[in-house]
Amino acid sequence: MTVDQVKLLARLLEVTRNLSTTVDLETYLQSILSAASELTESETASLMEFDEAAQDLYFKYVPWFHRDAIKDARIPLNGSAAGWIFLHVKPLMIDDVKKDERHYGRIDELSGFVTRSLLGVPLILHGRPVGVFEVFNKANSGNYTEEDALVLETLASLAATAMQNEMLESTMQSSQDEARDLDRLKNEFIAITSHELRTPLGLILGHSTFLRELVGNEYEEQVEAIIRNASKLKEIIESLSSVDNYQTGGASIRSRKVSITRIIEDVSASFRDVAIQKGVALKVELERGQDLLVDADGSKVAIVLSNLVKNAITFTNEGGHVIIRGEQQPDFVKVSIEDDGLGIPLKDLPHVFERFYQVESHLTRRHGGMGLGLSVAKVMIEMHGGRIWAESMEGLGSTFTFLLPVGKTSNVPDPVNPFVE
Ligand code: ADP
Repeated sequence: MTVDQVKLLARLLEVTRNLSTTVDLETYLQSILSAASELTESETASLMEFDEAAQDLYFKYVPWFHRDAIKDARIPLNGSAAGWIFLHVKPLMIDDVKKDERHYGRIDELSGFVTRSLLGVPLILHGRPVGVFEVFNKANSGNYTEEDALVLETLASLAATAMQNEMLESTMQSSQDEARDLDRLKNEFIAITSHELRTPLGLILGHSTFLRELVGNEYEEQVEAIIRNASKLKEIIESLSSVDNYQTGGASIRSRKVSITRIIEDVSASFRDVAIQKGVALKVELERGQDLLVDADGSKVAIVLSNLVKNAITFTNEGGHVIIRGEQQPDFVKVSIEDDGLGIPLKDLPHVFERFYQVESHLTRRHGGMGLGLSVAKVMIEMHGGRIWAESMEGLGSTFTFLLPVGKTSNVPDPVNPFVE
């Protein structure tokens, strides 16, 4: 290898390395343009990109001293050397532009630059031309060589990769922005709808409760059905609002000393009949004689536990078991609900606490629900400064655990489980 070839390789290596270290595309492409001019001994270089809508080429990058003059110029595909390179997807060398009518003289007029000779190669991405890379005026009025063309092609492929990275990044960024906008719209929609539904629903419940007293036995069944379903709707609206209120900082808790032992016993009693009907054994395991006391909003802790126990029974088949455990730890109380039911696939496990997330699709699922129970449980536990998480193996069962700090200021440690929510 000659000294010149070693120098060439070293310079190409430097440009390749810059690809992974230079953060912005403009700086990187400028460094490619300088390398191209230097290695092909040219006076200047430029990089054009194809404009799909206008069906012509425009300067994506030019050395700064020509920038103002030609930044808005367009190069037609027919009647220009760049257009020829783009359409034929081939390199082109012109030793004397005066003798070749493919040269587009308008750019020289705009910039005051005098083009004598040129070498250009197509910029190719996924087998398709996306632009053109050109160098102009070989030093000492020499002619461009095959070696120059090879160097330019190597640099063009680096430039194309960098431009693709930028395109991917900007697509990713706009997808993220879109997802954020949609999420905001969803939250606004939920907040407005649940607010607007609350008043008429309150009236339906109030009047139907009043009617129940009046109509007597004859229409009792119908009125009961109205009250039952209106109460269910109210529960859904409350669930939606509680997550919203927490997210917008509007939620508050009324803490006082409450017995978790008592809540566990009450909630398990309220699910006894459902469990029996389903053929699931529901058990409570507590240390004898110990009352688990915390500073908390008892009604909210009861909602959390009810949601978890309801799920455990729902997703456990006949003959299965659900165990509710409560234990005192140094600064917090730990409650877990274990079942040997369907379990949760690994890919779904990190998402089950998200609002509206359901493992099965809504259309194919056999169980009711709206994917709200766990998101409500999560916000309620976090409002108390606690933590909640899930462990599960598909087909073997699930364990949901939450920690509540005993006092208002104690800190709950990070659970060891990887699926922290
Ligand atoms: P839903 O009201 O639809 O049950 P949740 O937020 O309570 O919504 O639960 C979200 C999803 O997590 C459920 O649809 C279910 O697929 C899954 N899941 C929750 N608890 C369990 C469990 N104990 N066993 C298996 N899957 C569960």
